Amino acid sequence: MKILENEDNSIIVGKSADDYILKYQNDFYKMKKKDFIQICDEEKLIFREEIKENPIYAIIMVGIISLTIVMYFFHEKYVIIDSNFIIANIILFANIFIHELGHVLFLKLFYKSGKIKIGFKIYFIYPAFYVDTSDSYLLPKYKRIAVYLAGNFMNCIYVLICFIFFPSLNKYNYAIISTILINFLPIIKSDGYYAITSLFNRYNVAKSKKKDFIEDTVRGILMFLFLFLLSKLNVSL
Ligand SMILES: [Zn+2]
Repeated sequence: MKILENEDNSIIVGKSADDYILKYQNDFYKMKKKDFIQICDEEKLIFREEIKENPIYAIIMVGIISLTIVMYFFHEKYVIIDSNFIIANIILFANIFIHELGHVLFLKLFYKSGKIKIGFKIYFIYPAFYVDTSDSYLLPKYKRIAVYLAGNFMNCIYVLICFIFFPSLNKYNYAIISTILINFLPIIKSDGYYAITSLFNRYNVAKSKKKDFIEDTVRGILMFLFLFLLSKLNVSL
């Protein structure tokens, strides 16, 4: 294997035939040559413009998500009582779409040639489309975190728009707020989990299908219990 290093040791590349291993800020990335030359200048060993690090997106997203959750709890009773079941479901499904769109938009913003893979999953009783954001591993840390947060961020933008323009819809947004909170529980591998592990430079080890399924089921059951308890208890904060 041939090892290349740039002047300040920030980028180290090992290559053998078609496989490249890139070390950048304590992260390792394995990729094919065609992907490598898209993000990195092989001669100068510098990243091309679009892959430069910028933590501002992740910071703004964390700010907006926190603000939305705090605002929601201050303004609304955290209940489903009195809301129309059909409308609640339409809003929840629309928000699954808005959420996935967030991942796609920010992945494309940071990494134009990133491939978008759309899949279908069942979380306990909840069917959901999801976007495979594995291409985001090619991004520097804070941009990768921003891609993970982008789904919840877009949901928060929706909640904030309701606050300002359609306050009658506020009471339906409890499900969206719940999903966001569940997303940040560290016991399940979700957007929040990946954002946090990226922050501490831990790597996402490849999972088996079975483990994946168990985790999704646990996530679904938690979501179900969470919503069930909250709607029964009539919690208001
Ligand atoms: Zn997501």
